[in-house]
Amino acid sequence: MSTQPEPDCGSSSCIFSAKGGMRTNGPCRCYENAGFHGSAVMAAKQMLREVLLLRARLDAMPHDRTWTKDKPTPGEWWLALSPINRHPRRPPVMRICITGDGDMHLRESGGVSCIGWPEHLFDGALWMRDEHPADPFAELERTTP
Ligand SMILES: [Zn+2]
Repeated sequence: MSTQPEPDCGSSSCIFSAKGGMRTNGPCRCYENAGFHGSAVMAAKQMLREVLLLRARLDAMPHDRTWTKDKPTPGEWWLALSPINRHPRRPPVMRICITGDGDMHLRESGGVSCIGWPEHLFDGALWMRDEHPADPFAELERTTP
């Protein structure tokens, strides 16, 4: 199964590639190379099912793994302080645990230390939730009859 972003089967009839030069004869095989049926209509049927499945899986993911400026809720987080607020001896991205009481703990080199940094240090900071991965066997149990 090809994972190339720009499909190109090398055929002179390739419907994806615009490359000239030496090309092989015969029909475009890009659909088949990507694991789909050779017929465009059959491939479209297969692709629609796959797209819908992938959309459902993405929707079921608990959180986007993206940076946010929002003040974090209790849990595990990655913290990137704004460059002007960084300490030269601390890494640019740090793991932070926020307790239910709002206390912040810094996780570093296997240890945990309570931090009481002044509020202004977090101006412009970015946060990313550090999700504990879900049990991969839990989904198998749900989908297996
Ligand atoms: Zn092709």
